Amino acid sequence: MRALLVEDNTELVSLLRKGLSRGGIEADSVGTASDAGHALATMRYSVVVLDLGLPDDDGIGLLRDLRRRGDSTPVLVLTARDGVSDRVTGLRAGADDYLAKPFAMEELIARIQALLRRPGNLLGRRLTFGNVALDTEGRRTFVDGMPHAFPARETAVLEILLRRSGNVAPKRLFEDHLFGLSGDVGSNAVEVYVHRLRKMLTDAGATVKVHTVRGVGYLLTEEKAG
Ligand code: CA
Repeated sequence: MRALLVEDNTELVSLLRKGLSRGGIEADSVGTASDAGHALATMRYSVVVLDLGLPDDDGIGLLRDLRRRGDSTPVLVLTARDGVSDRVTGLRAGADDYLAKPFAMEELIARIQALLRRPGNLLGRRLTFGNVALDTEGRRTFVDGMPHAFPARETAVLEILLRRSGNVAPKRLFEDHLFGLSGDVGSNAVEVYVHRLRKMLTDAGATVKVHTVRGVGYLLTEEKAG
């Protein structure tokens, strides 16, 4: 279970981190909306704690983008403002819950745990592009609604591509995800898994294609039928 803290107040971040870790939740933290966007595009989080007062965005834009992409990661909004309109805006933009500062750490943890217990979270999250869907919790791929059991690393490659659909995913991301920090990654290891995934997608009748962007990474595009 991993949380993403999007908060620019470093003192608060360190308190949040300690509090969450006591509740058994490890956390990554970022201080800007732009770093948060990057983190969310590359990692899978169980929950996001989002401050609405960030230096580069009010946090609402980030939340809207997330929901527009079909990402249903639970989001708890933190607001320093106590106006009802901020809460309403947050909830309308797709927040699952909110908490006004200052708050008691116990309350934040209790609310996060409540979000993690929601049935929607247990049913898993679905990423879709073209006729391809990935159940990120069950790790199953669907092509035209038919389930396919792709191997773990091919599935991880597909997940990165789906989270980035429409944007190039840098090769480095795949290396980090597939091999972690264990090092010793053969120079063509990522290519091997991408190649296998391409074949699996083609064989399954997928309308999406994995393009190589030489020297940069990979891009998922939708091929129009006919
Ligand atoms: Ca702030």
